[in-house]
Parts: sequence; structure tokens; C-alpha cells
Amino acid sequence: MKFISTSGKAEPVSFMEAMRQGLAPDGGLYMPDRMPKMDDQFFKKPVHRSFAEIALEMAKPYLGDELKEEALGSVAEDAFNFPLELREIEPGFHVLELFHGPTLAFKDFGARFMARLFAEDANSRGEKVTILVATSGDTGSAVAGGFYDVPGVEVVVLFPKGKVSPLQQKQMTTLGKNITAIEIDGVFDDCQRLVKQAFSDKELAKKMRLSSANSINIARLLPQSFYYGWAANRIGSANKTSFITPSGNFGNLTGGLIAKEMGVPLERIVAATNSNDVVPRFLGGEEFRPGPSVQTISNAMDVGDPSNFVRMMHLFEGDADRLRREIPGYSYTDEETRRAIREVYQSIGYTLCPHTAVGYLAAKRDAQIRGGRTERVILGTAHPVKFREVVEHETGEKIPVPDRLKKVLEKEGVFREMRSDFEEFRHFLIQG
Ligand SMILES: *Cc1c(COP(=O)(O)O)cnc(C)c1O
Repeated sequence: MKFISTSGKAEPVSFMEAMRQGLAPDGGLYMPDRMPKMDDQFFKKPVHRSFAEIALEMAKPYLGDELKEEALGSVAEDAFNFPLELREIEPGFHVLELFHGPTLAFKDFGARFMARLFAEDANSRGEKVTILVATSGDTGSAVAGGFYDVPGVEVVVLFPKGKVSPLQQKQMTTLGKNITAIEIDGVFDDCQRLVKQAFSDKELAKKMRLSSANSINIARLLPQSFYYGWAANRIGSANKTSFITPSGNFGNLTGGLIAKEMGVPLERIVAATNSNDVVPRFLGGEEFRPGPSVQTISNAMDVGDPSNFVRMMHLFEGDADRLRREIPGYSYTDEETRRAIREVYQSIGYTLCPHTAVGYLAAKRDAQIRGGRTERVILGTAHPVKFREVVEHETGEKIPVPDRLKKVLEKEGVFREMRSDFEEFRHFLIQG
């Protein structure tokens, strides 16, 4: 299968090439040139399929001509070596817990799958690749965690001094092996600038193969369609399933749209945001008007100019009205989010992270407006312990810390310190 740019001016490329490039040369995002259709009986059959099996079947149409089935199967087995859970928290309302991976957020699915594909690619080309990531926190920890101990791939993470949370810093700096963390004496934009300069440096390009792993990479997007298939299969054919996706850059929601196009039996997808509401406003009939982001308690969704919006439009062939008809969108303030965390905990004893709480509110709204003839699956995007200050304040209860997180917190972080200076960074890349 070929992958084309949403801007339409770049050459179609293979999956692996699209993955290596990240962003298309014309500035667009890569998408499959057509949407493969699967037999929906695959999902409807009353057998509970394993996640790896569903992942393999859903990935094959995209990667089948570049990777042997066996190799793709072991990529899936290895990437998704942690559980996911579907919990019915109230009749007809389920939380799909996507946060049982190493960094306790759904981004593990995309990051771990992509990392293993990079390794396959580097291996088949007989070369080492170095991934550069600039991060303000979450991306760095997910990518570093995803690539940890993956052969043939080195990762260099740049984070701004004093600007990432203590937990995020631990997650990036306690891994070791092929993961190097660098604390830059500057802000996120300085980190980003160093990475961009490295990519455009001709001498570096001769000496090493550099690549990026940012959130717009097609290899991170694709696995975010698999769990829609898995959940639809779990719920079974007797009931229709709708998904509610807490969104920032809308990669997770785009994963759902891809799943639907491929034949996963789902009724509809509902977009849920915090006060960064450009997309819900657009879905409600306004122009698409991106702007600066505002800070909220669900900060992984603080995005003012969602990058995957172009992919959503692409999937709807530019038909804004059809997009508005098919996807309802709702937004919630911090105060509403806090109240939801508190009330759900008090009434049913379930602890929501702030992002998942935004999804919960949208699910309730959707039920009010459209009635009850569908099962509603809220994507649980992060473990509440990642946002414990906010959550514990509302519930009044300590959240038990999962063992894997305890281990990370106990370890001493190791990182290099560097000024925001390209020559120094370049020297480091060449000399190690
Ligand atoms: C990244 C993230 C989101 C938003 O996902 P998008 O794909 O950017 O829409 C939501 N919740 C959590 C916890 C996240 O880390």
C-alpha cells in the first residue's frame, strides 16, 4: 500500500518511508491512499480475540507488502505485552483502560509499535538509526519508554530544565541503555530548535541516520485504531458501540475513524475536549479557528491547533458538513471536570484521570441527547496516579501507586546537561 500526503503535493511512499520521514516533504501528514475494508464478521464473531491477533489483522493491509506476517506478528506481540481492560462502570457505560503500559498512558500503544517497526526497518537496511525527540514532558517519556532496549535504535531526548514534571523526568532519565536524556538550559522551543537544526545539518546527515518520532508519525497513528477493534469485539454484535475519545491533537480520535472505515462495527465516535475547544466549535458549525492553547488540569489535551484535523478532513474528503453530522463534539471546563472526578468516585468508587473525566462527561451528554440504544465506551487515556495531585484533591483518597511506577520513582535519574547551543549538541551527536 502507498501513503499519500494530506497536502497532496508529495510523492506517494511506502509505509516504512512514510514512517522514516514523519512529516511529508510538502508539509502534509501521511495517510493511506485508500482505506482497506475488513470483513466485519471478524469483529462480530462471538469469540474474544486477543489484542495481538486483532492488531496483526488490522495492520496487515498497510504493512503486509513490506513485512512478513511472522515479523509483523512478533512486532505486535512484543509491542503490546501489557493488558488493556474494558470496565463497565455503569450500565451501558464502559471505560476502555488503555493505561496499563509502561508509561501509564495510551501513548504506549503508538510509541511501542512504532519503535519496533523502526527496529525492523533499521535491521533490514543494516544500519543504526538515532531518534531525536524534543519534549515538554509526555511525548519524551512515551517515546523513550517505547524505544527502550529496542535493538538498532538509539534515542536522544531533549527536555527543558525545570519545565517537566518530576515523574516525567524520572520516566525519561531512569531507563539508560539506548536512551540518552539531555537537560537543556532553556525552554521547550530551544529543544525543538536544536532538533530541527540537527535534521538540516548536512555533515551530520553524512555521518548518521537521524529520524524523528513525533506524534504525527503514521506509525504511531495506526495502532491507535486497533483498540477500537478490540473493544467492539469484546462488546459483541448484539449491541452497537459508540466511542468517546478525550482529545487534544486528535490522533486517538483519528485512529477511531480509521477503524470505522476499515469495518469495525461502531455506531459513532464522540469528540471530547477541555477548554481547548477549536474542534467542538468547528463541529458545532463554526469556522476552524486554531489559536494559542490554554492551560487546564487535563494538560495532555492542551492543544490550540490540533495537528490531526487535516487527517480528519482528509478522511471525509474535505466535506466539513458530513464531518459535523457524524461526529458530535463537547467541551468541558476544569470545574466541570473536577466535579465529575468527585461525583463518579463518590457514587461508584471509580477513579477517573482528568482526561478520562472529560470523556465521561461527553458520554453522559451523548446519552442525554441521543438516547440509550448504544453501548458507550470512554477511552481511558491515562492512569489517575499520573495526575494524583488533582485527582486526590477531589476524591480525598490516596491512589495506590502501581509497582512499575514505584520502581521508577525510587531510581536515580541520569542525564546530561547542556546549554542551548547547537555546536555543543552536534559535537555530542558525533562523539557520543
Ligand atoms: C495525548 C493524550 C491525550 C490526547 O490524545 P490526542 O491523540 O492528542 O488527541 C489525551 N489524554 C492523555 C492522557 C494523553 O496523554
